[in-house]
Amino acid sequence: MSTPRRSILVVDDALDARLVMQAVLHKSGYEVRLAEDGDTALRTFRERPADLVMLDVDMPGRSGYEVCAELRAFAGPLLPIVMVTGLDDMASVQAAYDCGATDFIAKPINWPLIGHRLNYLFRAHETTLNLSAAESHMAAILDALPDPLVELDIEGRIIDVWMPGSASLAGFDGSVVGHNLVDVLPEQAASVCQAALRAARDEGTSNGHQFELPHEAGHSCFELSVSRKAGARGAKSHYLVLLRDISARKDAERRIAQLAYFDGLTGLSNRLSFLERVDQRIRHNAAHDEPLAVLFIDLDGFKNVNDTLGHKAGDQVLQAAADRLRASLRATDFLERVSDVPKVDLGRLGGDEFTVLLGEIARPQDAVSVARRLARAMRQPYEIEGRVVTLDSSIGVAIYPQDGEDGDTLLKHADTAMYQAKRAGRGNVELYSAELTERLNRRMALEASLRVALERDEFRLVYQPQVERVSGRVHAVEALLRWHHPDRGVVSPLDFIPLAEETDLIEHIGQWVLRTACADAATWLRAGKPMVVAVNLSAKQFRCASLPEQVLAALAESGLPAKLLEVEITESLLMDNTDTARSMLQVLCDHGVRTALDDFGTGYSSLAYLTRMPIGKIKIDREFVAGLLQGGDSAAIVRAVLAMADSLGMDVTAEGVETREQAQALVAMGCASLQGYYLGRPVPAADIPSFAGKCWRFDLLEPPATEAVSAGLPQQA
Ligand code: C2E
Ligand code: CA
Ligand code: CA
Repeated sequence: MSTPRRSILVVDDALDARLVMQAVLHKSGYEVRLAEDGDTALRTFRERPADLVMLDVDMPGRSGYEVCAELRAFAGPLLPIVMVTGLDDMASVQAAYDCGATDFIAKPINWPLIGHRLNYLFRAHETTLNLSAAESHMAAILDALPDPLVELDIEGRIIDVWMPGSASLAGFDGSVVGHNLVDVLPEQAASVCQAALRAARDEGTSNGHQFELPHEAGHSCFELSVSRKAGARGAKSHYLVLLRDISARKDAERRIAQLAYFDGLTGLSNRLSFLERVDQRIRHNAAHDEPLAVLFIDLDGFKNVNDTLGHKAGDQVLQAAADRLRASLRATDFLERVSDVPKVDLGRLGGDEFTVLLGEIARPQDAVSVARRLARAMRQPYEIEGRVVTLDSSIGVAIYPQDGEDGDTLLKHADTAMYQAKRAGRGNVELYSAELTERLNRRMALEASLRVALERDEFRLVYQPQVERVSGRVHAVEALLRWHHPDRGVVSPLDFIPLAEETDLIEHIGQWVLRTACADAATWLRAGKPMVVAVNLSAKQFRCASLPEQVLAALAESGLPAKLLEVEITESLLMDNTDTARSMLQVLCDHGVRTALDDFGTGYSSLAYLTRMPIGKIKIDREFVAGLLQGGDSAAIVRAVLAMADSLGMDVTAEGVETREQAQALVAMGCASLQGYYLGRPVPAADIPSFAGKCWRFDLLEPPATEAVSAGLPQQA
């Protein structure tokens, strides 16, 4: 498609001039319209605007100047208007310019050139049009731009400001034009801008410089995009600076970082960032060969707070604990940071587990001192929802480099030391040691296999006879637990009962012992060999309120009469837990179950509680039996116990009788019943009936005939 021809309106009162002009311009490719005076010209133009107007100055009626001014007003600044003036008539040339003409042509007209002249003029006009289009394009862009745009020179002087209505750069309006940045922005923001300007001077553009501006509601953050704008004709470059408000993005980034690196409840570092900081500090300390410490803090009894006061209260305790740790560390100026390497950091790993990094310690003992101070601070009562809560904390300490060379290992070892501190009792601080881990690992392995021992049927009971002095007969047996470990062989109850007591395993194992012992004794009873079976009960089993029911259920299940069951308890149970234990024991007594106090003399040895407790029998600890003939206090103690038991109407069994001489002495003192290797080692249930009915001749002080005891023969010491 060919472009339409350009149109020219020729205005001249002289007909010949009009016609010649028409002919010449037509030949140059223009479409030509004619008007013989100003009024006609204006009318014609209004009806059909032309691309260019040629106006004769001298016309009857309205002068060319008047028409020019009116056309200019009507058509706007871009319409090219060419005045045809008299030669050398400088006054009319000036007048034409003043009334808005674009150009002039002097008479006499050089006809061969006129077409070219107009071509040039049109090209200039085209450029003006393009420029104007570019300008309105720019204006539209600026209007659409959500961000403030500032034009600056390299010194930071503000040349111009475009401020969209929605922009949040308070006070940055037209009034700042002419000022320097340093006068209108805070120092830090101004210097960021200047750095961005210098970068744009060197590179043409610069992006990503950021600064913050404080305002009432906090901070706004701006990111700069700068581009260099070459100055016209060697003038200095200017810089267009786009100020993008990235506050929302910054906020989101901060929140994400917060989530990723900090514990939401306390604001302390989470595991990830705590470890990062420890590693960072390790790199720093490694260069100077300096030690550091990682502390692992666990609140003792926190679970209890959670369970009894609820999670909200629990959260408050944790927040208060975090605040205390912060405060205690700040007191020593620990939180100050040197070149971004943390001197100290605080973390929460979750639950009630806190961690501390001490980046500067002279010796391990310093870390222990800090740990003690923290423990003291943590021990102060917390007031939570009107209630006062006191919590101890157990703290484990691991030292770099001796206990580990990375954060992970140090944390693990501090955790191990904490575990050890906890086992040592409440509110303890413990330094990590490798030997301790080794022990702990063994324990943990043992605990793991203990957990499955019941279901794998690895427990067995053996029974040790107790012989009555008067009749010489085995009247009772004590059930003793054995664990047949697949790798370790038979494990002593001394090695695994304490472990089971730390967990809930003791309850399950205890139940199994009760049921098995009752079932075995019921079997002996049905075989016509009635025998009291004594079962050891751990103090921990009394934590379970249903213990009496468990005992009675074992009896009912097996059909064993209650009087053939004896429960052995230790002094510690009576001391720790008097009321509940007492009433539980009482329930058992009321049902006819026998009760015996084990290991008598080793514990608190307070006789007072004996009278208040439903105890039917005392077992004299083997320590005293062993000492009986060695000339110490043992003989006197045994005598006293026997006398006391007699006056209280209690039975007595002496444990650990290993020699004929010990048995002899005990019999002579009037001890009613004896138990020990001399009288028989613990044997499997199936061997017990062969004991029954055999008779010791204590008057002869000799064991019964060999065939009478097929297994567990008494051994002479
Ligand atoms: P205990 O109740 O004092 O049991 C007596 C311990 O002394 C038994 O060790 C027994 O084998 C041992 N013994 C017996 N006669 C002699 C002797 O003449 N000389 C010496 N030196 N020792 C003798 P065992 O079977 O290793 O049991 C150790 C402890 O484990 C028991 O001490 C008891 O406190 C606990 N225990 C054993 N079985 C159970 C159980 O089923 N439940 C609970 N809770 N504890 C148990
Ligand atoms: Ca016992
Ligand atoms: Ca004992």
